[in-house]
Amino acid sequence: MTIASAAVDRPAVRADGTIRHDWSRAEIRALFELPFPELMFRAQSLHRAYFDPTEVQISTLLSIKTGGCPEDCAYCPQSVHHETGVKAEKLMSLEAVLTEARAARDAGASRFCMGAAWREPKERDLDKVCAMVEGVHALGLETCATLGMLTGEQAARLKAAGLDYYNHNLDTSPEFYGEIISTRTYQERLDTLGHVRDAGINVCCGGIVGMGEAREDRVGMIAALANLPVHPESVPINMLVQVEGTPLAGGARLDSLEFVRTIAIARITMPRSVVRLSAGREDMSEETQALCFLAGANSIFYGPKLLTTPNPGCDRDMQLLDKLGMQPMR
Ligand code: SF4
Repeated sequence: MTIASAAVDRPAVRADGTIRHDWSRAEIRALFELPFPELMFRAQSLHRAYFDPTEVQISTLLSIKTGGCPEDCAYCPQSVHHETGVKAEKLMSLEAVLTEARAARDAGASRFCMGAAWREPKERDLDKVCAMVEGVHALGLETCATLGMLTGEQAARLKAAGLDYYNHNLDTSPEFYGEIISTRTYQERLDTLGHVRDAGINVCCGGIVGMGEAREDRVGMIAALANLPVHPESVPINMLVQVEGTPLAGGARLDSLEFVRTIAIARITMPRSVVRLSAGREDMSEETQALCFLAGANSIFYGPKLLTTPNPGCDRDMQLLDKLGMQPMR
């Protein structure tokens, strides 16, 4: 078959059932170049080997500390470096967080993610977040947090409090990274991921596309994720939400089929991971979202807001899942 070059013929799963962590860029590039129907077929075949393709894991994300972040991530409205009108707020109270968590659980979420706009948590803040993790865990929800960089000791404390997942994204390829963030290095991100993994917390790690990167950077991002020593249990693939006042506002938008391709290649290279169709759904048609599910996405964020940017309301999501004959993963 002419379309299946040698570069895409090494299967993602070895004959003994182990998953590969040795993807070359040439292999990933060749996947991006496959005819769309062939790529989708490969992604769907692997998806069905490990998951029920009708199920979608549902997470809710709450910003527990909004704005005023000293980092300079070019996509982020919460950075103090950009004039976006997002006001810096204090860390939410334990009571307020638990009220939101109860509402999320009652609306059908199985995981509750708490995000704080910090470079890294201070010790006194970590005490408060640990109490939140304990409280959310006691409600019967899976817990997830994204708090910036962590030391090994901080990761161990969060694990002891009952944290199930920690989100820390690689964002993009190592080469393009410097165009997006200057206040922390790619290696610092990898170090935090190592501390989270060592503490026994599940890793949630993905990236953002549509930031003006080249396809080769999407190749590099997938290679960085798929070659981590252990694949992240959860891989969020975000489509940039352009926010006025950030340096990335007004840039060219990524073609939605290229986004679907990126999802499919995340699915193929990390077949046992949950791939999350993450930010950017508000501007996506139902048809594009359906293609993403066909490409192997099997998780969404649920709720009208994603930190500070809009997200489809719960009703709209339930209607879409209903139309597609899909249901929340239990
Ligand atoms: S993405 Fe996170 S670390 Fe970067 S500026 Fe926004 S809140 Fe801060």
